[in-house]
Amino acid sequence: MSGTSNLPVSGARLWDSLMELAKIGPGLRGGNNRQTLTDADGEGRRLLQTWGEALGCSVTVDRVGNMVLRREGRNPALPAVAIGSHLDTQPTGGKFDGPLGVLAGLEVLRALHESGTETEAPIVLINWTNEEGARFAPPMMGSGIAMGFLPEADMLAGRDPAGAVFGEELRRIGWQGEADPAALQKLGAYFELHIEQGTQLEKAGIPVGVVDRALAQAWFDVTVTGEDAHAGSVMAGRHDAMVGAAALIQAIEEIALVDANGRATVGRLLVTPDSRNVVPSKIWFSVDMRHNDTAGLARMCEALKTRAAEIAAARGIAIAVEPFWESPLIPFDPTLVSHLRQAAEGRGLAHQVMPTVIGHDAVYVARKLPVAMIFVPCHGGISHNEDESITPEWAEAGLVVLADAVLATAGRAKTE
Ligand SMILES: [Zn+2]
Repeated sequence: MSGTSNLPVSGARLWDSLMELAKIGPGLRGGNNRQTLTDADGEGRRLLQTWGEALGCSVTVDRVGNMVLRREGRNPALPAVAIGSHLDTQPTGGKFDGPLGVLAGLEVLRALHESGTETEAPIVLINWTNEEGARFAPPMMGSGIAMGFLPEADMLAGRDPAGAVFGEELRRIGWQGEADPAALQKLGAYFELHIEQGTQLEKAGIPVGVVDRALAQAWFDVTVTGEDAHAGSVMAGRHDAMVGAAALIQAIEEIALVDANGRATVGRLLVTPDSRNVVPSKIWFSVDMRHNDTAGLARMCEALKTRAAEIAAARGIAIAVEPFWESPLIPFDPTLVSHLRQAAEGRGLAHQVMPTVIGHDAVYVARKLPVAMIFVPCHGGISHNEDESITPEWAEAGLVVLADAVLATAGRAKTE
């Protein structure tokens, strides 16, 4: 087929590697518990190191534990083309969220090695530390530090719920290196293959998602303040914060449903005084709003404030809507996106251009460097769950598109 790299990547070998890694830190029901900086994380890292060194790759580790496998190019002066994702999992995680991207990158390195293919630019494979953020908050820590968005010293001093210190755990498992994480800001390009963690691709029967942007997000803290009263008091004259919160939460769903591209979630809610027989005086809840475009997100944020004010006035309560965090719409690199589209077309694979609604290491990297992502379907959109599953065919579809796009970006060295 024209346009393909002809790189002899093996979907079967990728699948075997995924199953081999999944033996480390097994979950209770067939998934994985390989949380960051646990012994299992250390063991998974050692396996990747062994596999990389067998291909003649150098393995560098930085001060926050990011692992970088490097295969030199013919022109070492060129910035490296990177492939990355993460090997850590949620406590009840699956086998594919993260490992698919790392081990597909390994398979690309294996195919380059076996076929004796030389590239112009060096190729590196990155295993980012603590993508999941389950044990140590926040998520995407390794990439966030490397790209300069999270403070290294604060992160190293962070504690897990049991009180263990991040930096100490990193040293305990033997994975604190000496390299400067910021050195990764000198990469020339970055690709990440990941399961979709949604249902669009599976429902459409399309094996490849070419991800061209990360959606804009806005997170809020909402505090609804009423008046507490005995649950036996008459209904008239109540200023029930719970009912006000319920009305606003319903409104938030309506705000998201105004068009097909909005998403809004209330994921946490705290009740004061949190007593069975007291009308609540105060409700705090979180709001996470996302939209495919910046104007759409602005419309949602405005509507949230307007509806909050209306409900507060109608019910004689106070509702404060305060920004907590926001992330702009982050476009990915058009050239890398077109390499992915051409790769899918060259391989005869149906593909769809789509945004990511979920945070990934690629999103931090995209704020500094040219980035594109590939999604493959996962059954039922299920992830962060031991039932997460994909087919070997989907894994292979992502792999071949990754391989071709990486080679197109790094440049196959001409043989004379
Ligand atoms: Zn992931």
